[in-house]
Amino acid sequence: MPAAYCRVCGKPTAREVPAGDTFVRDVCTKCGEIHYDNPRILTGTLPVHEGRILLCERAIEPRAGYWTLPCGFLEEGESAEEGAARETMEEAGAIVTIERLFSAFSLPHVNQIYLLYLSSLETDALDPGPESSDARFFRPDEIPWARIAFRAIEFALDHYVNGDRTAVHEGVYRRRKGDPWILYKETKGLA
Ligand SMILES: [Zn+2]
Repeated sequence: MPAAYCRVCGKPTAREVPAGDTFVRDVCTKCGEIHYDNPRILTGTLPVHEGRILLCERAIEPRAGYWTLPCGFLEEGESAEEGAARETMEEAGAIVTIERLFSAFSLPHVNQIYLLYLSSLETDALDPGPESSDARFFRPDEIPWARIAFRAIEFALDHYVNGDRTAVHEGVYRRRKGDPWILYKETKGLA
């Protein structure tokens, strides 16, 4: 988010490269405050119980009515794993055990990085929160592929259902002249 006005003193900023930096920043014309803008991390889980995958139907925009894995923006003071477990509790009312990182997916055009963790649940009891209109478990052949909310979620689900479940999957999605393209890497040999 560009800062037209200084977040410290309220005076206008200018776009410039600060001394010793290599990126253009919003720099305050009065007090010199440099406004750094860095990509945001979304963290979530791929929860599996007895072979079925937990998905939540979004009650809110963006993508209301579409299905997603429990996932949201990491909060300050949290580890990625803590944020993933918290989001799963908030959106599905489910207590998960985080097993390991399953996918890391970058979306440079919107400055987002998704970290999704393979997780297990002791029971299939769910209690969807206000951000979800529904939450339930899907067998791999029941996944509503045409109704998945986000590319990063589809990426993780696709590689869990159709790919190597023992691997870590890394992807990058970009748009170049209107043409989407994906860089993809798989780290194999993990338990
Ligand atoms: Zn200022």
